[in-house]
Amino acid sequence: MQVLYPGSFDPLTLGHLDLIERGAQMFDRLVVAVLRNPSKNPCFSVEQRLAQIRSATAHLGNVEAAGFDGLTVDFAKRTATAAILRGLRALSDFDYELQIAHTNKSLAPELETLFLATATSHSFLSSSVVKEVARFGGNVAHMVPEGVANDLSRLFNRTSS
Ligand code: ADP
Repeated sequence: MQVLYPGSFDPLTLGHLDLIERGAQMFDRLVVAVLRNPSKNPCFSVEQRLAQIRSATAHLGNVEAAGFDGLTVDFAKRTATAAILRGLRALSDFDYELQIAHTNKSLAPELETLFLATATSHSFLSSSVVKEVARFGGNVAHMVPEGVANDLSRLFNRTSS
């Protein structure tokens, strides 16, 4: 069974990676799908985010990364995906995630949404927190894969110089 793990991943965190590793053990194939969403004004281009994901998941033979435009359900249909995987960090994620799951179900009844609870050690992590810490020169080595930490320091050193 193939599952799609869609999101912004701007950038990939160790919380995302934990979910990917656990999902990869459960399903035949896991596609990390990076949404091209210009309205979110991302720090990293889709190509940079795909490179970050590919490098951090190189040890996982059944994981691939792809960019997509438009509706997640349409991309899922085009790629013969059986289910969408999402992570739940806290109760605060729940309303939003349930709303998206119901919307997707109304658009594509054959597609299921599956939730994995975040590892407690990573439940405080979000891409925006990571960017905020990195922007002000804080250490993010325990929050993101090494390649992402390097990209963040390059990004913020350059903009501040
Ligand atoms: P989106 O913009 O779609 O919310 P994100 O990149 O923020 O995209 O998140 C993608 C998915 O990863 C979501 O299901 C989110 O709940 C999950 N996620 C975010 N942070 C973590 C984390 N620290 N641990 C596990 N899952 C997470």
